[in-house]
Amino acid sequence: MKYLGSERVITLPFEEHKTAEDYAGIMLSPLSIKGQYKVIKTVTKYQSYEDSVDYNTFISNQKTWKKDNGYQCVTITGKSLFIPSGELGGNCVILEGYYQDKKYQIGIYHLENVYVKEQDIIRNNTLLGTQGSTGLVLSNKDLKDKTYGTHVHVEVKNEQGKFINPRPFVDESILLSLDPKGDNLVKEDEKKEDEIPQTPPKTDQTTPKENEEMTLLFTCPKDDFYFLKLKKGEKLYLVKNSS
Ligand SMILES: [Zn+2]
Repeated sequence: MKYLGSERVITLPFEEHKTAEDYAGIMLSPLSIKGQYKVIKTVTKYQSYEDSVDYNTFISNQKTWKKDNGYQCVTITGKSLFIPSGELGGNCVILEGYYQDKKYQIGIYHLENVYVKEQDIIRNNTLLGTQGSTGLVLSNKDLKDKTYGTHVHVEVKNEQGKFINPRPFVDESILLSLDPKGDNLVKEDEKKEDEIPQTPPKTDQTTPKENEEMTLLFTCPKDDFYFLKLKKGEKLYLVKNSS
């Protein structure tokens, strides 16, 4: 099943998670959304952990691991890991839009890369970022699985600030629009839609500071995505094909 544009499975349903739903998929798989939204917040400063915390271990130790300013956890590989309160969700995108006169907020967490920025107006199957394991990523994965439970955590709040089931918002049953009475806009949007996500907008990630790592995304026909990772000090020269 496609959730937020890529094949993912539900690993923690809303009924159990209470305020959100978790969707596991492939690390760095694209996250896209149909409809029209305003980006009201992004967090982009974190890097994915190459490790995660076992879900059941976390639940049974939650009270003792909770500190004033975060969680002092033990990871699946037995390492000590402190995650400050502000970092729990990792990199995220928070979107706002309307459906049948009502305003909704969609929060998408634990991303590796974020390709939109605050105040952006997005539409037509926009590529938001890629799946990662930033923040406190709980999983039931074992040591053999080196993705350590990478997943997307999605929260949807209604106008009253109440958390509601995100599923219809991520499986494209409900598409939001920018206008409170914008049902027509959504329909118009659907007609124009192209199944291939847009090329990611230019962000700071394409102009890294000296010695920073950067990730380049190549969008190719037929929904294929390739990542080229450069480590500190490595140089990549792009040569324009003049033929
Ligand atoms: Zn979650």
